[in-house]
Amino acid sequence: MKKIAVLTSGGDAPGMNAAFRAVVRKSIYEGIEVYGVYQGFQGLINDNIKKLELGDVGDIIQRGGTKLYSARCPEFIEPQVRQKGIENLKKRGIDSLVVIGGDGSYRGAQRLNEEGINTIGVPGTIDNDINGTDYTIGFDTALNTIIDAVDRIRDTATSHERTFIIEVMGRDAGDLALWAGVAGGAETILIPEAPSDMKVVAERIETGMNRGKKHSIIIVAEGVMSAAECGEELRKYINVDTRESVLGHMQRGGKPTGNDRVLASRLGAYAVELLINGTSGHAVGIENNSLSKTSFDQVFEENHKIDEGLFRLSKELSI
Ligand code: ADP
Repeated sequence: MKKIAVLTSGGDAPGMNAAFRAVVRKSIYEGIEVYGVYQGFQGLINDNIKKLELGDVGDIIQRGGTKLYSARCPEFIEPQVRQKGIENLKKRGIDSLVVIGGDGSYRGAQRLNEEGINTIGVPGTIDNDINGTDYTIGFDTALNTIIDAVDRIRDTATSHERTFIIEVMGRDAGDLALWAGVAGGAETILIPEAPSDMKVVAERIETGMNRGKKHSIIIVAEGVMSAAECGEELRKYINVDTRESVLGHMQRGGKPTGNDRVLASRLGAYAVELLINGTSGHAVGIENNSLSKTSFDQVFEENHKIDEGLFRLSKELSI
């Protein structure tokens, strides 16, 4: 009989707990022993592994963060370091692993799979930047947290007739900025995938002001520039009074939304199902509202792209 372990790795995301719970419950439902690896790949090499029972995942579906803890573990790129982790699994008779995390975590998962542990990846990151799934676990929650902040800032922006610049997470990925910009009615959305000419941005804001627009909201992904830099850039071209808000780590926390909980539950259980059926070396996802699996090789084949149609729409609606 198979034994399955589960870990969360990389940046935490709301809904990781729901995915963890699904892996544990589905495994036990299928009569499989399941183990939790605490602190991601770091815990794997430190042998921080515990057998889990149904009760260990009680009362966590609604909680943000990850009860399994997460960690960055740069030395996991070394084969001999990974070997230690593999031995820690093998000595317990564990032959399968579910890795809940982002694309960095998937790289570690892919290596483990090649080295003899049947591994499945579950997309857990607020960035929504993983190929092979339309949505990652945590994106919907972070998006709604940002929208809530944008709505609040909009109230004060309107009252004081100011331009607000809101910096959101996304070093390489613009999905959060793009979606929050569309949902929050931002005039300008700056994302890493589509560089914008700041002179053009400034001119559009000025045109709006001349037309009698009372305020303007700019959403900038951190990977493009900071909110403060964005304000400085604008003032090179126009005389504008700006206020900057950096939303920071609040975007990572909080109760997962219903969508994230359901997505996490479906993907966590599906990961176990694949392992039972002998599939490994794949990441699970949701595509066109159906469960899907994509080999790690294919996930890494090309960079994640933004939805060009949505980006065009954001421009059309913010004239
Ligand atoms: P995320 O999974 O959120 O993208 P990171 O990029 O920090 O987060 O990756 C999480 C962990 O995955 C790293 O700390 C490291 O332990 C492991 N990892 C990342 N890249 C590799 C790689 N090329 N080979 C093996 N392990 C890796």
